[in-house]
Amino acid sequence: MKTTRIIQLLKETESIGINNIVNIKGWVRTKRGNNTVLFINLNDGSIVHGIQVVVDVANFDEQLLKQITTGACLSVEGKLVESMGKGQSVEIQALKIEILGLADAERYPLQKKGHSMEFLRSIAHLRPRTNYFSCVLRIRHAMAFAIHNFFNDKGFVYLHTPIITGSDCEGAGEMFNVTTMDLGNVPKLGNGEVDYSQDFFGKRTHLTVSGQLNGELGAMALGNIYTFGPTFRAENSNTPRHLAEFWMIEPEMAFYELEDNMVLAEEFIKYCVKYALDHNFDDIQFLNDLFDKELIDRLKSILDVQFIRLPYTEAINILQQSGHKFDVPVYWGLDLQAEHERFLVEEHFKKPVIMIDYPKEIKAFYMKQNEDGKTVRAMDILFPKIGEIIGGSQREESLEKLLNVVHERNMNEQELWWYLDTRRFGTAPHSGFGLGFERLLLFVTGMSNIRDVIPFPRTPQNAEF
Ligand code: ATP
Ligand code: MN
Repeated sequence: MKTTRIIQLLKETESIGINNIVNIKGWVRTKRGNNTVLFINLNDGSIVHGIQVVVDVANFDEQLLKQITTGACLSVEGKLVESMGKGQSVEIQALKIEILGLADAERYPLQKKGHSMEFLRSIAHLRPRTNYFSCVLRIRHAMAFAIHNFFNDKGFVYLHTPIITGSDCEGAGEMFNVTTMDLGNVPKLGNGEVDYSQDFFGKRTHLTVSGQLNGELGAMALGNIYTFGPTFRAENSNTPRHLAEFWMIEPEMAFYELEDNMVLAEEFIKYCVKYALDHNFDDIQFLNDLFDKELIDRLKSILDVQFIRLPYTEAINILQQSGHKFDVPVYWGLDLQAEHERFLVEEHFKKPVIMIDYPKEIKAFYMKQNEDGKTVRAMDILFPKIGEIIGGSQREESLEKLLNVVHERNMNEQELWWYLDTRRFGTAPHSGFGLGFERLLLFVTGMSNIRDVIPFPRTPQNAEF
């Protein structure tokens, strides 16, 4: 008999037909009842709600029923009927039950009681079976899909940039080395330095911290591209907003100036949030009721507001005149900390802020220099509860200006030859940004720790599962 998914039973009840016989397969969430009747809540992951299976004890082998415990996997054949009980519209009257997989009640860690997020992280292989995490994973899927839709509809080309990179100059964060050398016996040069010419690639290589430099090459040929892939940063920062392995979306657009870049980024975030509200409302509702009573309001409110455009210098003035006592004192040139960003977004403006025109010293070498000689055309989008969700800029298209910065910063011009070629041959104004996928998910799900929006988080001292 063909298996029906629970989402269909609940959402397409009419077309399946009350009183028809159906087969469902799923995992037991709860089992309760008495000597005559049992109620089993079965969940198959298709929707946050499970379906209630009603078991007339007299019709089944006692031994079989005993073996049905929380976490066990069942195949149930039964009649779809309207439910008398509260909280569900339909239920299944069981006719046949087969146990596909037992779950030892002594050892299965997800018994009914509520669990802390910390505990659930320690059983990341099983936490998708909790309601909260299955909601997060369905939303994560939908957001990935929305992102591809958004750019595909606009004619952007999805460009796969390399995960292993030989360029040392991305400068976005600390990098992980990639090597096949025997670390106990590393070949050395006469001066004691490591001889990377004997390594797999014949040079030193890393896991990418950003696909941007390669993305720019794509934009200088295809016009508009985006990347969407894993990104790695060996930053030893144990915060609720940093992972060592995260996913990033990086669009790069030829002929876009900073203003066009901001318009696109704002439209993009709003599209994703609207997509989640339209396609994952059950999941969002569940998370709203369980964890974060303001989640739905917060998501809806984002759709209606215009993000504030705020030059860095103005932000410094606001912070200095706020009278607020910050742990890190504010001065022009400071790389703003989370406390400053949160003050601006959550207390001062109470809206997302796009901060622009940062001091050049605190931003990457490739950003377009402003006329003032002090600032660059950077834009960071700051969100309530999250802080920075997007980092981007207009890129410096002048070879001469770019070379000046490369020299000022003692960067290796030779290593960047291929990147600099884009400015040598047919350079053009262009812009782009990077959105941290998990930061977006923090916003959309209302979760407070980034470890809880990725299936298997990688953080310092943790690569289990
Ligand atoms: P932050 O100041 O928060 O560390 P960043 O300035 O290092 O961010 P960028 O290099 O501009 O960030 O990266 C682009 C985007 O990638 C950020 O806006 C953020 O959404 C995301 N991001 C950066 N680092 C991480 C990380 N370690 N874990 C998850 N997301 C990240
Ligand atoms: Mn960082």
